Amino acid sequence: MISIQEYRFAESLDEALALLDAGKRNRVIGGGMWLRLGHAGVRTAIDLSRLGLDKIEDAEGEVSIGAMASLRDVETAPCLRELFGGVLSESVKPIVGVQFRNMATVGASVYSRYGFSDLLTALLALDAAVVLHRAGEMPLDEFLRNPPEKRDILTAVHIRKDGRRAAYRSFRRSKTDFGVLNVCMSVSTEGDWRLSVGARPGRATRCPEAEALLAAGDGAGAAKAAAENLTYGSSLRGSADYRRHLAEVLTLRCWDALREDGAEARDSEPTDAGRDEA
Ligand SMILES: Cc1cc2nc3c(=O)[nH]c(=O)nc-3n(C[C@H](O)[C@H](O)[C@H](O)COP(=O)(O)OP(=O)(O)OC[C@H]3O[C@@H](n4cnc5c(N)ncnc54)[C@H](O)[C@@H]3O)c2cc1C
Repeated sequence: MISIQEYRFAESLDEALALLDAGKRNRVIGGGMWLRLGHAGVRTAIDLSRLGLDKIEDAEGEVSIGAMASLRDVETAPCLRELFGGVLSESVKPIVGVQFRNMATVGASVYSRYGFSDLLTALLALDAAVVLHRAGEMPLDEFLRNPPEKRDILTAVHIRKDGRRAAYRSFRRSKTDFGVLNVCMSVSTEGDWRLSVGARPGRATRCPEAEALLAAGDGAGAAKAAAENLTYGSSLRGSADYRRHLAEVLTLRCWDALREDGAEARDSEPTDAGRDEA
């Protein structure tokens, strides 16, 4: 159970950061769903909910998801159901239940870099960027590998709208449990392929060897490369070998989904012959 000595609603991000810097036991609070599991006492809980950070904005060149948007907001936002094959929506849907997703926030989920995170796996394949109040904007990929040393506040996640199509697959032993393995694949209109694998059980990471094979049109080779080139570990949800096997299967499923998706998109395009007939 969590104990909080002082609860503060920040009036600005600068004030929130100053409060965070004022003590090691001061913590930003998102939905509080993870924090409440901890036993360490929080000196000052810093609530960002009055700073208007809960918006999901679909602008011309990018989508911006505010740190205080809930996972349920991500699941239900019409633009996120539509864009990128709806993978962001899909990725959060299996997380616990609706009441939980109404509380848990995007900022906490991304900043905490949880190994099991469904959302991180999807965002990484979409080439997302994080916006930190102190350190500024940086690619999510870099944030996951080399996070800034000083504690910070994540204010938003940005995703470029580069016409990316994407597919997401996760495998769970039972509904609402943590994923045993998560995979997300995407391709931009320029043919830039991305593949991320999460819950290995380490945090989501890209697989450049597999991405090169995807670009060459070799889905089966990419699936093998994802299994062979990334590290997998054992946990109570599955062994390293089982995860390696799942990586190959889920990568292939994403590849098939994107190929079908591409074929459907091509089928629905008016052909020259169709135009002549009209
Ligand atoms: C029982 C349970 C099951 C779960 N299952 C899954 C699952 O299957 N898949 C999955 O992907 N996730 C899962 N999660 C994680 C969940 O999706 C959220 O990521 C998690 O609850 C954190 O969100 P929160 O808003 O509740 O964070 P909080 O508990 O409020 O905060 C968590 C941490 O993030 C910090 N923080 C909060 N906001 C910010 C910010 N804006 N900037 C910087 N730091 C910040 C806090 O100080 C704290 O250290 C699960 C969590 C629980 C408790």
